[in-house]
Amino acid sequence: MKDIAEIRADFPILNRKVYNKPLVYFDNGATTQKPQCVIDAVTEVYTTYNANIHRGVHFLSDMSSEAYENAREKVRSFINAGKREEVVFTSGTTGSINGIAFSFGERYIKPGDEIIISHLEHHANIVPWQMMCERKGAVLRVIPINNAGEIILEEYLKMLSSKTKLVSVTQVSNALGTVLPVNEIIAAAHSVNVPVLIDGAQGIQHGVVDMKTMDCDFYVFSSHKIYGPTGIGILYGKEKWLSELPPFQGGGDMVDKVTFEKTTYNELPFKFEAGTMNYPGAIGLARALDYVNSIGRENIAIMEKELLSYTTEKLSGINGLKIYGNSVRKISIISFLLKDIHQYDAGMILDKMGIAVRTGTHCSQPVMDRYGIDGTIRASICFYNTKEEIDTLATGIEKVISMFS
Ligand code: PLP
Repeated sequence: MKDIAEIRADFPILNRKVYNKPLVYFDNGATTQKPQCVIDAVTEVYTTYNANIHRGVHFLSDMSSEAYENAREKVRSFINAGKREEVVFTSGTTGSINGIAFSFGERYIKPGDEIIISHLEHHANIVPWQMMCERKGAVLRVIPINNAGEIILEEYLKMLSSKTKLVSVTQVSNALGTVLPVNEIIAAAHSVNVPVLIDGAQGIQHGVVDMKTMDCDFYVFSSHKIYGPTGIGILYGKEKWLSELPPFQGGGDMVDKVTFEKTTYNELPFKFEAGTMNYPGAIGLARALDYVNSIGRENIAIMEKELLSYTTEKLSGINGLKIYGNSVRKISIISFLLKDIHQYDAGMILDKMGIAVRTGTHCSQPVMDRYGIDGTIRASICFYNTKEEIDTLATGIEKVISMFS
């Protein structure tokens, strides 16, 4: 296995300086940096075989279509989905959830029906359901959380009823790092025949994700959070759902036969891929998944677990620093506040030291409301980060505190 210096050398951006200081990048929850092989894969498309997919009979179009479909197969195998028909390319997590919320609403939802989400959701897994509920007269139910930032499972179990039509929860909270008990959530929903969508935006990059063992009905994620290009993501759906659901966008390639009287749709997965898809992004994503596999997903999980405990220990020792989110099951996201210091001020000062952290609500305003705060400072760490960088963060935080005291 590569050592940390070799891993870091794969990511050219990690070598740069900001304000003449070495970059310390702790904003991986927002987006991850790209290894050279991913950058090369996208460049290769544009320099050697760029052509629109699926529509041409010429050499380049064949080549890009083949690379795009190979990318689909790569994703299928990475998440261990049963069939390539179950893997749809979208613009990302947000695009996938909006698509399902629209199609599911059109096909199945009546006034009075209920959709369950949790209090830990990113806005991308709240607003599309609110829009659908408004359109269809349905009701959004929210699983509450405790002070540690864990969902209260008993409350969820009480919410499930004959009115429940779908459960949509995140695998991991982007604001607090909490890992949700998705297996229990899915099993309980399935026991009353309710399908489950899992938002994998923060889950896919931190360990092994397997559709056969997870058994969710839909799983969505964004390429840019797993070291791939932006503007591309995945909607996995069990075939039985995807074949029943209507498409959420109309246009080229998603059709079988078009007349002014009636249009019939293409087979799966193309029914859900309208218009020119982001094929360079899909090809880049496939290369990112190869890269992740080359490091090893178990190895990544082990490295990040160690970095999480190191960071938690380091930051907990700082007087005046409060960590939000102390779930027993957590990935390497640490949200915190420094007593009396506004998170933006702290974030801006840390930035001048070359340390990139995120400040604000992290698109999870309800989580902030739950704690009565208007945001946090978030360090989201991944396997290419080092203990030295965490030391730099801790020293930086101490400096911020001393500047304000
Ligand atoms: N869901 C979660 C848990 C996220 O963390 C994010 C992004 O931060 C999203 C959804 C939205 O992802 P995207 O903006 O890539 O569509």
